[in-house]
Amino acid sequence: MSDVLSPNAKMEPYWWEAAPRPVLPQATLPGEVDVVVVGAGYTGVSAALTLAREGREVVAFDAEDAGWGCSTRNGGQIGTKLRLGLGELSGTYGKPQAVAMIKEVTNARNYVGDLIARERIDCDWNECGRFVGAHRPGDYESLAHELPAYRKDAGIVADMVPRAEQHAHIGTDAYYGGQYVHNNASLHPAKFHQGMLDRAISAGARIVSHCPVTNIEKSGTGFLVTHAKGKIKAKNVVIASNGYTPPAFADWRRRIIPIGSYIIATEPLPAGLMDRLMPKRRVISDTRRVVFYYRASPDGTRIVFGGRVASTESDPRVSAPRLHDVMCGIFPELKTVKVSHSWMGFVAYTFDHLPHIGVRDGIHFAMGYCGSGVHLAPYLGHKIALKVLGKSEGANAFDSLEFQTRPFYTGTPWFLASAVFCYRMMDKFGGRGRKP
Ligand SMILES: Cc1cc2nc3c(=O)[nH]c(=O)nc-3n(C[C@H](O)[C@H](O)[C@H](O)COP(=O)(O)OP(=O)(O)OC[C@H]3O[C@@H](n4cnc5c(N)ncnc54)[C@H](O)[C@@H]3O)c2cc1C
Repeated sequence: MSDVLSPNAKMEPYWWEAAPRPVLPQATLPGEVDVVVVGAGYTGVSAALTLAREGREVVAFDAEDAGWGCSTRNGGQIGTKLRLGLGELSGTYGKPQAVAMIKEVTNARNYVGDLIARERIDCDWNECGRFVGAHRPGDYESLAHELPAYRKDAGIVADMVPRAEQHAHIGTDAYYGGQYVHNNASLHPAKFHQGMLDRAISAGARIVSHCPVTNIEKSGTGFLVTHAKGKIKAKNVVIASNGYTPPAFADWRRRIIPIGSYIIATEPLPAGLMDRLMPKRRVISDTRRVVFYYRASPDGTRIVFGGRVASTESDPRVSAPRLHDVMCGIFPELKTVKVSHSWMGFVAYTFDHLPHIGVRDGIHFAMGYCGSGVHLAPYLGHKIALKVLGKSEGANAFDSLEFQTRPFYTGTPWFLASAVFCYRMMDKFGGRGRKP
């Protein structure tokens, strides 16, 4: 065993300690419902909640425990930007559409904040702000250059933080300054999922775990859905399987690039150390193309540190020492602090680096959040439910995007290793290119 792992280290999410995987009441399934939802992560549960509150009979299936996918594995960081910058988006889609898409991310952030407040979901919501560390000197200039347009056009409130002042935000000299983005937030991902799940069940949604959907076929004006325990008819179907979309849903799978994101939680830090390393408890990310993201645990005792540390998919026992090593490059004081939990999950990337929502062959879907789904998934889950209901409020800035694929791509990203290697070289030696 690696010596950075504590003797009783767990290879599962730290978040499951405070919010264990739910044991759900056995749902009796009728032969026909209004809506079947495939996947019970944030997207699926959010859609089920909205539909059930509108009086629709809805069943959400998950192949594993409800929330077993990314929704209880993530870093719990809520941002207000997209993977591509405003300039790059404007170049491809025109400025009005670019601005509308970025504003939609703030709408998603606000939707989640309001939902948590309105529903009184106990999930350690913290409007902590974000520090984005400049990995190279030129990155600081780039952040500063794009900031006025973000402020003026997209309403993003942020300030540049020169290197000499960065210790007010983060106790490291590893960055060349950075950017403080004000209204970013953090939450406990699994408590948040549990809160939404409880509300969906209370509203009348049936959630069926350990029951994969294996086929969806047209039947009359609706659909016949085959699942592990039988068949069910539905007027509408919502696919919410994101980075876990199976080969059975080939048309969606070939549009999604599943990429493993790896993450660790440390043992509790020695007294006083967190106040030096993360004095404001901000969520933190950096300008690397192969980005690292980290934060304090909600109780302020541990660091939860994530990123991608291998070109090919790896094992949490292998990724833990590598993530620990990167973390100690930023915070050398953590060399003797061991890792208590190490885990991973499959994030859903897309070929245009943007989320997608819509209807294909009569089947509704929302997916492809490119690593920003803590806010986008509940928001677009709600939006897709509104579309099922035929409400105009389901409209959003991502509606008109073509959901791209590539010739011969069927859902196994054979190109990932070389892409990650190239991006890592650019991070090390400089160079331009999109973040993966
Ligand atoms: C390590 C990690 C860190 C992350 N950090 C952040 C972060 O800090 N901030 C952020 O915004 N985003 C982050 N993300 C991304 C975010 O967690 C996801 O975008 C979000 O949870 C997606 O929710 P979802 O409901 O669409 O998908 P998921 O939560 O992945 O749920 C999909 C579900 O579909 C189920 N499923 C698959 N096939 C079937 C089938 N055939 N039948 C029934 N069910 C099926 C799966 O079992 C799974 O539970 C992170 C992701 C990971 C992995």
